[in-house]
Amino acid sequence: MSTGQDSSAKAPGAIGTEAVRAAFAAGTDVDACAALTQRVNRLAGRALQAFGDAGIACRRGCDFCCHLRVMVRPHEAIALYRALATHLPQQQAREVRQRVLDNASRIGRLGPGGHAAARVACAFLVDGACSVYAVRPLACAGFHSLDRARCEQDHVRAGSASGGGTGAGIPMLQGLTAAVGVLEAGMDAALAARGLDCGLVELHEAVAALIGNPGFIARWRGGRSWRVPRGS
Ligand code: SF4
Repeated sequence: MSTGQDSSAKAPGAIGTEAVRAAFAAGTDVDACAALTQRVNRLAGRALQAFGDAGIACRRGCDFCCHLRVMVRPHEAIALYRALATHLPQQQAREVRQRVLDNASRIGRLGPGGHAAARVACAFLVDGACSVYAVRPLACAGFHSLDRARCEQDHVRAGSASGGGTGAGIPMLQGLTAAVGVLEAGMDAALAARGLDCGLVELHEAVAALIGNPGFIARWRGGRSWRVPRGS
Protein backbone atom coordinates (compact mmCIF):
# COMPACT_ATOMS: atom_id res chain seq x y z
CA MET A 1 0.00 0.00 0.00
CA SER A 2 1.57 3.26 -1.12
CA THR A 3 0.68 6.14 1.16
CA GLY A 4 3.00 8.89 0.00
CA GLN A 5 6.61 9.86 0.24
CA ASP A 6 6.85 10.22 4.00
CA SER A 7 5.21 6.99 4.98
CA SER A 8 5.60 4.62 2.01
CA ALA A 9 8.12 2.45 3.83
CA LYS A 10 5.86 1.87 6.79
CA ALA A 11 3.39 -0.95 7.38
CA PRO A 12 -0.30 -0.09 6.91
CA GLY A 13 -1.02 -0.70 10.60
CA ALA A 14 1.67 1.80 11.60
CA ILE A 15 0.18 4.27 9.12
CA GLY A 16 -3.22 3.94 10.82
CA THR A 17 -1.58 4.53 14.18
CA GLU A 18 0.30 7.53 12.80
CA ALA A 19 -2.90 9.00 11.38
CA VAL A 20 -4.41 9.07 14.88
CA ARG A 21 -1.26 10.57 16.36
CA ALA A 22 -1.11 13.33 13.72
CA ALA A 23 -4.82 14.19 13.74
CA PHE A 24 -5.09 14.14 17.53
CA ALA A 25 -1.76 15.86 18.24
CA ALA A 26 -3.50 18.93 19.66
CA GLY A 27 -6.60 17.24 21.07
CA THR A 28 -9.69 15.23 20.22
CA ASP A 29 -12.29 17.93 19.52
CA VAL A 30 -14.77 17.82 16.64
CA ASP A 31 -12.26 19.39 14.22
CA ALA A 32 -9.69 16.74 15.12
CA CYS A 33 -12.28 13.99 14.56
CA ALA A 34 -12.98 15.41 11.10
CA ALA A 35 -9.23 15.67 10.43
CA LEU A 36 -8.71 12.01 11.37
CA THR A 37 -11.60 10.85 9.20
CA GLN A 38 -10.30 12.86 6.23
CA ARG A 39 -6.76 11.62 6.76
CA VAL A 40 -7.84 7.98 6.90
CA ASN A 41 -10.04 8.49 3.81
CA ARG A 42 -7.03 9.81 1.92
CA LEU A 43 -4.97 6.80 3.02
CA ALA A 44 -7.71 4.44 1.83
CA GLY A 45 -7.77 6.38 -1.45
CA ARG A 46 -4.02 5.97 -1.85
CA ALA A 47 -4.37 2.25 -1.19
CA LEU A 48 -6.92 2.14 -4.01
CA GLN A 49 -4.61 4.09 -6.33
CA ALA A 50 -1.84 1.65 -5.58
CA PHE A 51 -3.94 -1.07 -7.19
CA GLY A 52 -4.48 1.05 -10.30
CA ASP A 53 -7.44 0.27 -12.55
CA ALA A 54 -8.01 -3.19 -11.20
CA GLY A 55 -11.58 -3.60 -12.35
CA ILE A 56 -13.26 -1.50 -9.66
CA ALA A 57 -16.88 -1.05 -10.77
CA CYS A 58 -17.75 1.91 -8.49
CA ARG A 59 -18.86 5.04 -10.36
CA ARG A 60 -20.50 8.33 -9.40
CA GLY A 61 -24.28 7.92 -9.44
CA CYS A 62 -24.16 4.22 -8.52
CA ASP A 63 -25.44 4.18 -4.94
CA PHE A 64 -26.54 0.62 -4.13
CA CYS A 65 -23.96 0.46 -1.31
CA CYS A 66 -25.42 3.64 0.23
CA HIS A 67 -28.50 1.57 1.11
CA LEU A 68 -26.49 -0.92 3.18
CA ARG A 69 -26.19 -0.83 6.95
CA VAL A 70 -23.09 1.28 7.72
CA MET A 71 -21.34 0.99 11.06
CA VAL A 72 -19.20 3.87 12.31
CA ARG A 73 -16.85 4.66 15.17
CA PRO A 74 -17.65 7.55 17.51
CA HIS A 75 -15.05 9.88 15.96
CA GLU A 76 -16.52 9.18 12.50
CA ALA A 77 -20.03 9.97 13.77
CA ILE A 78 -18.67 13.20 15.28
CA ALA A 79 -17.13 14.10 11.89
CA LEU A 80 -20.52 13.53 10.20
CA TYR A 81 -22.28 15.56 12.89
CA ARG A 82 -19.81 18.41 12.34
CA ALA A 83 -20.32 18.16 8.57
CA LEU A 84 -23.99 19.05 9.03
CA ALA A 85 -22.81 22.51 10.07
CA THR A 86 -19.69 22.90 7.94
CA HIS A 87 -20.04 20.95 4.66
CA LEU A 88 -23.60 21.51 3.54
CA PRO A 89 -25.69 24.52 2.51
CA GLN A 90 -28.17 25.42 5.28
CA GLN A 91 -31.32 24.12 3.61
CA GLN A 92 -29.66 20.88 2.58
CA ALA A 93 -28.23 20.47 6.08
CA ARG A 94 -31.73 20.84 7.55
CA GLU A 95 -33.06 18.17 5.18
CA VAL A 96 -30.18 15.78 5.84
CA ARG A 97 -30.48 16.33 9.59
CA GLN A 98 -34.19 15.48 9.47
CA ARG A 99 -33.49 12.37 7.39
CA VAL A 100 -30.85 11.29 9.94
CA LEU A 101 -33.43 11.54 12.72
CA ASP A 102 -36.16 9.81 10.69
CA ASN A 103 -33.84 7.01 9.58
CA ALA A 104 -32.51 6.50 13.11
CA SER A 105 -36.02 6.18 14.45
CA ARG A 106 -37.01 3.74 11.71
CA ILE A 107 -33.81 1.69 12.01
CA GLY A 108 -34.24 1.48 15.77
CA ARG A 109 -37.67 -0.08 15.23
CA LEU A 110 -36.48 -2.41 12.47
CA GLY A 111 -33.37 -3.77 14.20
CA PRO A 112 -30.30 -4.89 12.21
CA GLY A 113 -32.03 -7.63 10.18
CA GLY A 114 -35.02 -5.50 9.29
CA HIS A 115 -32.74 -2.60 8.44
CA ALA A 116 -30.83 -4.67 5.87
CA ALA A 117 -34.08 -5.81 4.29
CA ALA A 118 -35.56 -2.29 4.14
CA ARG A 119 -32.94 -0.73 1.81
CA VAL A 120 -32.87 2.53 3.73
CA ALA A 121 -31.08 5.21 1.70
CA CYS A 122 -28.32 6.87 3.74
CA ALA A 123 -29.43 10.29 4.96
CA PHE A 124 -26.25 11.81 3.52
CA LEU A 125 -26.99 10.55 0.02
CA VAL A 126 -28.01 13.55 -2.12
CA ASP A 127 -28.79 13.22 -5.84
CA GLY A 128 -27.06 9.86 -6.00
CA ALA A 129 -23.81 11.06 -4.43
CA CYS A 130 -22.35 11.27 -0.95
CA SER A 131 -22.82 14.84 0.32
CA VAL A 132 -20.06 14.39 2.91
CA TYR A 133 -17.58 12.51 0.73
CA ALA A 134 -14.45 13.92 2.40
CA VAL A 135 -15.55 12.73 5.83
CA ARG A 136 -17.42 9.55 4.91
CA PRO A 137 -16.67 6.71 7.32
CA LEU A 138 -13.96 4.16 6.53
CA ALA A 139 -16.70 1.54 6.01
CA CYS A 140 -17.68 3.59 2.94
CA ALA A 141 -14.20 4.70 1.85
CA GLY A 142 -12.94 1.12 1.92
CA PHE A 143 -15.88 -0.45 0.04
CA HIS A 144 -15.05 -1.06 -3.63
CA SER A 145 -17.01 -3.55 -5.69
CA LEU A 146 -15.67 -5.42 -8.68
CA ASP A 147 -19.14 -6.14 -10.05
CA ARG A 148 -21.95 -3.60 -10.34
CA ALA A 149 -24.45 -6.28 -11.35
CA ARG A 150 -23.82 -8.15 -8.09
CA CYS A 151 -24.39 -4.93 -6.12
CA GLU A 152 -27.69 -4.42 -7.95
CA GLN A 153 -28.68 -8.03 -7.38
CA ASP A 154 -27.94 -7.73 -3.65
CA HIS A 155 -29.99 -4.52 -3.53
CA VAL A 156 -32.96 -5.95 -5.45
CA ARG A 157 -33.02 -9.14 -3.36
CA ALA A 158 -33.05 -7.33 -0.01
CA GLY A 159 -35.84 -8.71 2.13
CA SER A 160 -36.56 -11.61 -0.24
CA ALA A 161 -36.32 -15.30 0.64
CA SER A 162 -33.05 -15.50 -1.32
CA GLY A 163 -31.50 -12.90 0.94
CA GLY A 164 -29.74 -9.67 0.05
CA GLY A 165 -29.31 -6.15 1.28
CA THR A 166 -26.23 -6.98 3.31
CA GLY A 167 -23.46 -6.57 0.75
CA ALA A 168 -22.36 -10.15 1.48
CA GLY A 169 -20.93 -11.92 -1.53
CA ILE A 170 -20.13 -8.77 -3.51
CA PRO A 171 -16.69 -9.39 -5.03
CA MET A 172 -13.96 -7.09 -3.74
CA LEU A 173 -10.29 -6.68 -4.48
CA GLN A 174 -8.90 -8.86 -1.72
CA GLY A 175 -5.55 -7.08 -1.47
CA LEU A 176 -7.27 -3.72 -1.10
CA THR A 177 -9.71 -5.08 1.48
CA ALA A 178 -6.77 -6.50 3.42
CA ALA A 179 -4.83 -3.21 3.26
CA VAL A 180 -7.83 -1.22 4.48
CA GLY A 181 -8.37 -3.80 7.24
CA VAL A 182 -4.82 -3.38 8.49
CA LEU A 183 -5.11 0.42 8.31
CA GLU A 184 -8.32 0.13 10.31
CA ALA A 185 -6.70 -2.13 12.89
CA GLY A 186 -3.82 0.31 13.36
CA MET A 187 -6.25 3.20 13.81
CA ASP A 188 -8.36 1.26 16.32
CA ALA A 189 -5.29 0.20 18.29
CA ALA A 190 -4.15 3.84 18.53
CA LEU A 191 -7.62 4.99 19.62
CA ALA A 192 -7.79 2.25 22.24
CA ALA A 193 -4.29 3.14 23.48
CA ARG A 194 -5.61 6.66 24.14
CA GLY A 195 -8.54 5.19 26.04
CA LEU A 196 -11.00 6.24 23.32
CA ASP A 197 -13.96 4.05 22.46
CA CYS A 198 -13.75 2.76 18.87
CA GLY A 199 -16.79 0.49 19.05
CA LEU A 200 -19.09 0.43 16.04
CA VAL A 201 -22.58 1.94 16.03
CA GLU A 202 -25.08 2.21 13.16
CA LEU A 203 -24.45 5.50 11.30
CA HIS A 204 -27.88 7.13 11.70
CA GLU A 205 -28.31 6.07 15.30
CA ALA A 206 -24.87 7.45 16.13
CA VAL A 207 -25.38 10.83 14.43
CA ALA A 208 -28.94 11.14 15.75
CA ALA A 209 -27.63 10.50 19.26
CA LEU A 210 -25.23 13.44 18.82
CA ILE A 211 -27.98 15.68 17.47
CA GLY A 212 -30.10 14.77 20.48
CA ASN A 213 -27.27 15.09 22.97
CA PRO A 214 -23.97 16.67 21.87
CA GLY A 215 -22.76 15.82 25.39
CA PHE A 216 -21.86 12.41 23.95
CA ILE A 217 -18.80 14.11 22.47
CA ALA A 218 -17.40 15.10 25.87
CA ARG A 219 -18.30 11.65 27.17
CA TRP A 220 -16.29 10.00 24.39
CA ARG A 221 -13.39 12.44 24.77
CA GLY A 222 -13.33 11.62 28.46
CA GLY A 223 -12.70 7.96 27.66
CA ARG A 224 -16.17 6.70 28.47
CA SER A 225 -17.92 4.05 26.46
CA TRP A 226 -20.39 5.39 23.92
CA ARG A 227 -23.28 3.08 23.32
CA VAL A 228 -26.47 4.07 21.59
CA PRO A 229 -29.44 2.49 23.38
CA ARG A 230 -31.38 0.93 20.47
CA GLY A 231 -30.77 -0.98 17.26
CA SER A 232 -27.08 -1.77 16.98
S1 SF4 B 1 -21.85 8.33 4.29
FE1 SF4 B 1 -21.80 8.81 2.09
S2 SF4 B 1 -20.74 7.03 1.11
FE2 SF4 B 1 -21.41 6.39 3.20
S3 SF4 B 1 -23.42 5.40 2.91
FE3 SF4 B 1 -23.79 7.60 3.39
S4 SF4 B 1 -23.96 8.63 1.38
FE4 SF4 B 1 -22.99 6.62 1.03
